[in-house]
Amino acid sequence: MITVSNLCKSFGGLEVLKGVNVEIDKGDVICVIGPSGSGKSTFLRCLNLLEVPTGGQILFNGVDITDKSCNINLHRQKINLFPHMTILRNMTLAPVKLLHKSQEEADAQALKLLQRVGLGDRGNAYPAQLSGGQKQRVAIVRALMMEPEVMLFDEPTSALDPEMVQEVLDIMIELGHDNITMVVVTHEMGFAREVADRVVFCDGGYILEQGTPEHFFTNPQNERTKAFLSKILR
Ligand code: ADP
Ligand code: MG
Repeated sequence: MITVSNLCKSFGGLEVLKGVNVEIDKGDVICVIGPSGSGKSTFLRCLNLLEVPTGGQILFNGVDITDKSCNINLHRQKINLFPHMTILRNMTLAPVKLLHKSQEEADAQALKLLQRVGLGDRGNAYPAQLSGGQKQRVAIVRALMMEPEVMLFDEPTSALDPEMVQEVLDIMIELGHDNITMVVVTHEMGFAREVADRVVFCDGGYILEQGTPEHFFTNPQNERTKAFLSKILR
């Protein structure tokens, strides 16, 4: 579904991505790991063109999205909930405006998704009345309202209190089992172990190693991968 070839991104003189190559098939869950500053977020942002690549190609269903300004169907993840609107309104705004769904249809879909993440009774609450973990769960189902072909997650649990991490991971694990295509920057190796089809290790502007979670847990090859994993797998 997505073929990234020789993707490059520089900020002025700073070369962040120096030639990233990766294949993402429909239904794949890809976990991207690597040191801070290695370009993981930049890579995700290039995938939905929040950053314009300085070189290379991103083919999405055969169309080069770097080539022209096309209407990409990737969800843009880092959008906050509107504080003055109820959860239900936050979830239905975009599908009604952009997908031209009726309010009733969107409401029904939103309620179903909220029920699925254990928030069926919170539709009329405001964001401030939700915990961090609940807000993050709403953010995920709100993204699903747009029926994206790919979900991109940039460290979705990093800002959460430790006791709220698992409730968000559980939702993502479920999505992973549902065959939704996901690219997730995360160091939650338990999550990677359970749902990732492939783990990708980035460092120094390149993907240095990729493989199954098992490969990374039992048999990493690259010295830098080994050093990195020894720090996060304690
Ligand atoms: P990671 O997500 O792996 O921690 P980032 O992709 O956020 O890494 O950043 C990679 C490098 O690119 C860092 O050195 C960062 O300072 C730099 N960078 C990221 N975004 C910008 C930007 N908009 N302008 C200039 N430099 C940036
Ligand atoms: Mg980042």
